[in-house]
Amino acid sequence: MAKLTPMMQQYMQIKADHQDAFLFFRLGDFYEMFFEDATKAAQELEITLTSREGGEDGRIPMCGVPFHSSENYIKNLVEKGYKVAICEQVQDPKDAKGVVKREVVQLVTPGTVMEGAMLEEEENNYLASLTPAGEDTYVLAYNDLTTGENSVALVSDGFDGVLSELFNRPVKEIVIPSLLPEENRAALSERLALTISEEDRIDVTNEVEVLVTDLRQDVLKEGFARLFHYIQKTQKRSMDHLKSVYYIELHDYMKLDMYSKRNLELMETIRKQGKKGSLLWVLDQTVTSMGARMLKKWMERPLLQKQQIEERFNQVDGLLGQFFEREMLRESLQSVYDLERLAGRVSYGNVNGRDLIQLKQSLSKIPEVKRILGEFAQSELQRLGENLDDLHEVHTLLENSIMDDPPATIKEGGLMKDGYHSQLDEYRDAAKNGKQWIAELEAKERQETAIKSLKVGYNRVFGYYIEVTKANLHLLPEGRYERKQTLTNAERYITPELKEKESLILEAQEKSVDLEYQLFLEVRDRVKAYIKPLQRLAEQVASVDVLQGFATVSEQHHYTRPSIRDDRSIHIENGRHPVVEKVMKDDQFVPNDVRMNDHSDILLITGPNMSGKSTYMRQVALTAVMAQIGCFVPCEMADLPIFDQIFTRIGAADDLVSGQSTFMVEMMEARHALTKASERSLILLDEIGRGTSTYDGMALAQAIVEYIHEHIKAKTLFSTHYHELTTLEDSLSHLTNVHVRAEEYDGKVVFLHRIQEGAADESYGIHVAKLAELPDSLITRANEILSQLESGGSAAGEVSSSEVKETISKEQLTFFAEEPASVPAQSKNSQEEEQVLTALRELDLL
Ligand code: ADP
Repeated sequence: MAKLTPMMQQYMQIKADHQDAFLFFRLGDFYEMFFEDATKAAQELEITLTSREGGEDGRIPMCGVPFHSSENYIKNLVEKGYKVAICEQVQDPKDAKGVVKREVVQLVTPGTVMEGAMLEEEENNYLASLTPAGEDTYVLAYNDLTTGENSVALVSDGFDGVLSELFNRPVKEIVIPSLLPEENRAALSERLALTISEEDRIDVTNEVEVLVTDLRQDVLKEGFARLFHYIQKTQKRSMDHLKSVYYIELHDYMKLDMYSKRNLELMETIRKQGKKGSLLWVLDQTVTSMGARMLKKWMERPLLQKQQIEERFNQVDGLLGQFFEREMLRESLQSVYDLERLAGRVSYGNVNGRDLIQLKQSLSKIPEVKRILGEFAQSELQRLGENLDDLHEVHTLLENSIMDDPPATIKEGGLMKDGYHSQLDEYRDAAKNGKQWIAELEAKERQETAIKSLKVGYNRVFGYYIEVTKANLHLLPEGRYERKQTLTNAERYITPELKEKESLILEAQEKSVDLEYQLFLEVRDRVKAYIKPLQRLAEQVASVDVLQGFATVSEQHHYTRPSIRDDRSIHIENGRHPVVEKVMKDDQFVPNDVRMNDHSDILLITGPNMSGKSTYMRQVALTAVMAQIGCFVPCEMADLPIFDQIFTRIGAADDLVSGQSTFMVEMMEARHALTKASERSLILLDEIGRGTSTYDGMALAQAIVEYIHEHIKAKTLFSTHYHELTTLEDSLSHLTNVHVRAEEYDGKVVFLHRIQEGAADESYGIHVAKLAELPDSLITRANEILSQLESGGSAAGEVSSSEVKETISKEQLTFFAEEPASVPAQSKNSQEEEQVLTALRELDLL
């Protein structure tokens, strides 16, 4: 260290406090990076790596980005999940003895970005914090710096619950205690791809206290305090716009674990990881970014209260009924900017004149929105309109003060309207009069000297001057002006009078620009006093937008209003899958009914691959989610109960990230359902047991069906290719068989995707093979083997079924071995697999 130059010593000291961030070290017009930061940044940003004299040890690696274009580079790093510490010179170099003083003024991290370019408009940008609070219990706190929103939730079902809660939410970064177990930390960073930050302070300071007054428990306050201290550490500025922390009572909402959120493709598809193809993609007919963000919040938390759900239905109904008014409403909303984030910027102190104009234009639309809502017949919509506060005072203030087309900067004038402030008007008049005088001077001098091309000009270095071209110099009387500057083809002059006017003009201009800046800050502060009502207005407008979106999509796709039932029966007529139907052309989707009365808990669905079993199951779950967020549903008629939770085990979406085997994932998802489901839950189990050999797969499948039937009684859709399970209908009174058939049409196999009562033909596999025109002799032989297997005997001359069983039971060893030593190649997950299998074995299966 001693060998470094003084500036590099300063660098090293600052870097020591920001080990986990790129340190952008301000040097003149550049942010420079050194050492490892430099080599890594050069790679990530594709910029040139150079070096700099560092002291006795010679040159050190360096790279830099220009200050004026730094935003893009910072954005690039932050999007990759890195943090950037911005270190500025905080002292005028003239005052510095030795090295100029420098400090980190802001830490830009994925969860705390404020600048437009780094934000998704239609998505919240959450920073979360995690605080363990006793056995299997955690406090999660959330903040969105751009909107000021704060919340906390208490997760009481272990770390899996934490992962499920965070999954699919727009959380970018999580603040954890430094002592969080490594496996938990790894799950957060690898499975959820979150940037991890540490903060150990959880003391409830006065600043924290004012925000958490609504919270009852100390653990919740402390959980939020962790988040707050981290924000303060990174932002180092006013946080006036932070809203009071609200408590999310997780029990008030339908619970969807991580597997279900993913399998049902609510927010994004499993494979493509994008919005297209998800339920959100179908439902998002919002026209504002506030509405788009609100829709996601509603989808993350489907409701459980019948009254709340019905209220949303009523509103959608009202909107649906009046097409013309709804179109007008959409059009008005379209001109409303992002009030929520504008409010955030106002109090964060980074608004410019253009933002305030956007705010004004948005506010000017509110009376119209109110009026249109008043034109709906439905009373709850009228009330929504009445409750909107159009913040007339703020609109008037902005209308009187800010120019209509202000510049992007706030320090160079051109912002404030004439007539807003008398002193400003005086300065402007003075400057204007001066300029008028100059224009007159030019005319007068032209006339008196008879030099037509004589002109009065201005530049920053010399101020105002009189310019005469060389060709006309002979016309100029000697000594008329004072020579100031010689150009190639002209001379420039000044006069004492001109200089006198010049200083008057410049002084007036300077004063007016300074005053404008002061006035702008004043207006900003006056708007800031309205942050709370602005935030409220933003929320109300966002809700109206989501509701009109529901009405719009419901009309487009002919959704109907479901009736919410108090008992547990389901009745859906001609139900459809909202996404598959939208992707298909021209009404190709085949609608299906669902009938499960109070006594029918399990539908056992059989049928060949690709016949539509999993589509059918998913459409039931999606219909339930849609209903519970308040949207109409894709069918002709629906009676639905309110589901408290939905569990799924669907498809073969391998859990690639965690590197677990398909079967293991299958079992973990099943365990979730079996341990957490209640009588009021919905469970979808698709081809359970497929991941292992026939017999133990089938045994597990049957045991799971029986367990649900006897102990859980949740509404369950269970698809299986184990035809043998259909006989369960005889012994399990609450189980019903349904099936989908493959049909022959013009000699080809076709799937009609029609769900029918009863079990599928047991030989449907062979039936399909026949339709596929496999050789006749082969089909005959297959039928022979089938009947022999069924009668328990062995197929003549072939492998006996007992031999088959034996091979299978050997395969089983890999999963059921008591002695780990007998496992041939122990997978890295075997220990975890063993735990789950133990748990499964211990389940009280019949
Ligand atoms: P399974 O689960 O039986 O293997 P899927 O549900 O995956 O079958 O459906 C297979 C394909 O059939 C889907 O990709 C879908 O395009 C189509 N399909 C499923 N259900 C329907 C339906 N009701 N109407 C039209 N096409 C359907």
